[in-house]
Amino acid sequence: MMRRTIAQIERMLARRYAGQLESRTKEEAERLVIGVSTDTRTIAQGNLFVPLVGEKFDGHQYAQQAVDKGAAAVLWQRGHEAEPPQGAPLILVDDTLGALQQLAKAYRQELDMKVVGITGSNGKTTTKDLVHAVLAVQYRVHKTQGNLNNHIGLPLTLLQLSEDTEAAVLEMGMSGRGEIELLSGIGAPDIAVITIIGESHLEQLGSREEIARAKVEILSGLADGGLFVYNGDSELIEAVLPEMPKPKTMRTVRFGMGQDCDLFASNVQMTADGAHFTLNDGGAVEFAIPLLGRHNVTNAIAAIAVGRELGISDECIAEGLASVQMTGMRIEVRQAPSGLTVLNDAYNASPTSMEAALKLLAELGGFRCKFAVLGDMLELGPQEAELHRGIGERIGPETADYLLTYGERARHIADGALIRLPADRIRSFNDKRELAQHLLTLAEPNDVVLVKGSRGMRLEDVVAVLLGDE
Ligand code: ATP
Ligand code: MG
Repeated sequence: MMRRTIAQIERMLARRYAGQLESRTKEEAERLVIGVSTDTRTIAQGNLFVPLVGEKFDGHQYAQQAVDKGAAAVLWQRGHEAEPPQGAPLILVDDTLGALQQLAKAYRQELDMKVVGITGSNGKTTTKDLVHAVLAVQYRVHKTQGNLNNHIGLPLTLLQLSEDTEAAVLEMGMSGRGEIELLSGIGAPDIAVITIIGESHLEQLGSREEIARAKVEILSGLADGGLFVYNGDSELIEAVLPEMPKPKTMRTVRFGMGQDCDLFASNVQMTADGAHFTLNDGGAVEFAIPLLGRHNVTNAIAAIAVGRELGISDECIAEGLASVQMTGMRIEVRQAPSGLTVLNDAYNASPTSMEAALKLLAELGGFRCKFAVLGDMLELGPQEAELHRGIGERIGPETADYLLTYGERARHIADGALIRLPADRIRSFNDKRELAQHLLTLAEPNDVVLVKGSRGMRLEDVVAVLLGDE
């Protein structure tokens, strides 16, 4: 965690934000602040309290509570109408969010460490976990906790780092243009990774080129001479690259499945507990990851590129990958008491992640019958019907024996699937319980079900019925 005196913090915030350096008593200026919190429910003794102003809540209202719980100092928006707290010094700023970001940016500059920034439409959290596992073999490394990947989470992540951190792995998420540029400016990565360009946030951004530009913004904060690791199968990245701000010099590694990438996997073998592969560049080391799905092999290749850049041998990288600790399983494998295997991927869905999950289902062997339960993919904009239909068109008998959809948009998946699946194997529902109960009438113990849809569809309700949890 950041440990700085109030005077040091004011200097880090610089003129733009600092209020009253000159009027502090010596005791106040030298008061030590340990860590930063924006939430009075979890604030710890000695923290700097940062009141954020949201649509529904204004943290300034909770400042006294923060001080009562032991906050050592409080950032305060100059001229804010709320009653300032008693009992801890205020640090006056123009806007508390901007100040939080500035503080994180300054703190990052003060630490002698390597930063890996990871963005992309899918696979950010997974790749973050894989990179962390690889770097942990040799470095004191810290990663974004959970999914704290936005304009608030990323600064808080940086401010959690201890002084002796040697490497930080930062997930950078976005929903529109300019957001990754901001995050990359704060994190100032030495290595920038783009996992894949998909269709998530198509609604907000309008086109796939715009999505690619929004991700390539990560190069605006990349260190001069830094390394850009990107998905060589996404030609859009190279298409927009010339027009985007980037360091004067940088090196690149294109990774993926395509044979024209710099780094790609060969001899990929999928098993029930993961994947094994070697790399194309002649290395003798066999890598294994305890993760299902070919898409995770590409995520792992990105992690290998990062590990090599930071001087880790392939043997050590392999050791790291094999021991990866995932942030909450995304495709969670559950066994129902009936014997039915449920692949719970109800966390979220976009066309690229849907495709990845269906590919995984297609590759699974050893089951009597495979079911795909798919819900709406949200936020896809005017092309949503077409994108859903496109997913359906990919589903043939190799992927699933039965397709059950839930939601209005997902009906287009069912329509698309008519091309390759018999009509009596496809059914659309408006009720999750009805869907699950229908499935249970068809299923036998040695069957497998993939359940996937956007967060808003809450397909975990289907999973609960299948598992007999309700
Ligand atoms: P979020 O935007 O929610 O933070 P994320 O980018 O962090 O997502 P993950 O949490 O790693 O992504 O994975 C989310 C989903 O994307 C998973 O369901 C997984 O199946 C799929 N996925 C992971 N990696 C890839 C990839 N390289 N290509 C396509 N799909 C992927
Ligand atoms: Mg994530």
